[in-house]
Amino acid sequence: MKFPTATAVGYNRPYLMALRHRLEGVILKRHCWGITAVCVLLLAGCQTAPPAVAPAAPSPATVVSTPAPVLPPAPVAARTDDLIIVAGLGFHTGTRVVVWSEKAGLNAYDFNPTKQAGTENHGGRRLALPGGKPGGAEPQTPWTLTGLQKQIDQFVLHYDGEGFSRNTFNVLQQRGLSAHFLLDVDGTIYQTLDLRERAYHATIANSRSIGIEMANRGAFPPEKSKELDAWYATDAQKGIGLRPPANVGATGVLTPNFIARPDQPQIVTGVLNGRILKQYNFTSEQYAALIKLTAALHRIFPQIKVDYPRDVAGRLVRNKLADQRLEKYHGLLGHWHIQNNKIDPGPAFQWDRLIDGARRELAGDKHGVDGP
Ligand SMILES: [Zn+2]
Repeated sequence: MKFPTATAVGYNRPYLMALRHRLEGVILKRHCWGITAVCVLLLAGCQTAPPAVAPAAPSPATVVSTPAPVLPPAPVAARTDDLIIVAGLGFHTGTRVVVWSEKAGLNAYDFNPTKQAGTENHGGRRLALPGGKPGGAEPQTPWTLTGLQKQIDQFVLHYDGEGFSRNTFNVLQQRGLSAHFLLDVDGTIYQTLDLRERAYHATIANSRSIGIEMANRGAFPPEKSKELDAWYATDAQKGIGLRPPANVGATGVLTPNFIARPDQPQIVTGVLNGRILKQYNFTSEQYAALIKLTAALHRIFPQIKVDYPRDVAGRLVRNKLADQRLEKYHGLLGHWHIQNNKIDPGPAFQWDRLIDGARRELAGDKHGVDGP
């Protein structure tokens, strides 16, 4: 499936400057490849000049296969493997995204209802009620980008508890749930639905939010934290790594032989919604991809502020937000901010790392260069 890119629609100037910078880089690389191609072809021409005397035909025993001609690498194409889809349009993120229509994609549109799952796992977004409260009717006409920009103001972070995105996707499908994005341990982002759809991931926030399930084994109370021992093992040289039990089967991680390593060796302890919890951190590849995605979502949906809920001292709120506050909140959220029976994305998640990184990306836009 081909998606028109965001340049097909009106777009803000800083982003266009960043895009231009990126394209200039591509053109420069293409130019270099052009020169290389001429040189290689000239050399190839020397090597393949016809001999003055035709050689005798070799006997079958001495036939050697002709080496393949040396060709320059293909020109660098403008990147298309980083697009996310919003109302049918593609938007660059600068990180690898597999969309539902790709062969390796996870397609939440492809849903076979079961007794357990019910009849659907996503639906049309409901219009916001006066005051911004979600819960109105579906619009009469399909969602447009402009309509979605007025509606979407929250980005909800979850961990999946299953350890790997492909397994998580299967479980979500079985339960009649969905998330727009799944972030695997190697930093691959799967988009399972166009963002015009309402995914079923965060109850009352579904119509106004975008949801992401990040692969992680999850957080456990101290008396159950032995559960983590079955999933993580320490290598004397390389440190802690994710080694799932054999019964988990194929992980489906796209990077071959990838060993997921929590980005800090120690288990992290913290309190969320009044519960003491232990968890291993996410991988550096996940943080890098999430930073790019968060910046891209803010560019598309400026109402999603790049910040998290803070207390009066400016620290992360570790409990569910009061209903009125949640209603007025625009920005990033953990699932625990929405429901007091939830604890994801867990105590190990580094919120400042995410927002500092995303803000640096966005500052790079303003200066017409890519962020770090
Ligand atoms: Zn959740």
